[in-house]
Amino acid sequence: MENCLFCKIMKGEIPSAKVYENEYVYAFRDINPQAPTHVLVIPKEHVASLNDTAGIPDRNLAECLRAIPVIAAQEGLTGGYRVISNCGPDACQTVPHLHFHILGGTQLAERMA
Ligand code: AMP
Ligand code: ZN
Repeated sequence: MENCLFCKIMKGEIPSAKVYENEYVYAFRDINPQAPTHVLVIPKEHVASLNDTAGIPDRNLAECLRAIPVIAAQEGLTGGYRVISNCGPDACQTVPHLHFHILGGTQLAERMA
């Protein structure tokens, strides 16, 4: 999709710190990390949020979820990690391309709101 920040990152038109990539998925470090490890996992096919995933093949979504533990292991998150997908304004979603935040590398707060 034109003018989508994460589509441009995935295509290499905007630089990013890549941590993982396969045919379906791209993952990179969040530019404003909220934990010692903060990685964003996105499907290569544009979809705005979890609300819109009926618009992409199941494989694309499954590959994002399957990539998460692979990336967590690669990042050495042996003590655990948190996965978040902000969906819509109440959740403060700022980039309308589906993404999963992987947060870890420290003891995370119990409450989110
Ligand atoms: P969300 O608020 O859930 O939509 O998350 C969007 C995330 O993208 C935020 O955590 C931002 O820090 C991150 N972000 C925005 N621009 C960039 C960028 N150019 N490279 C890496 N991460 C970014
Ligand atoms: Zn996009």
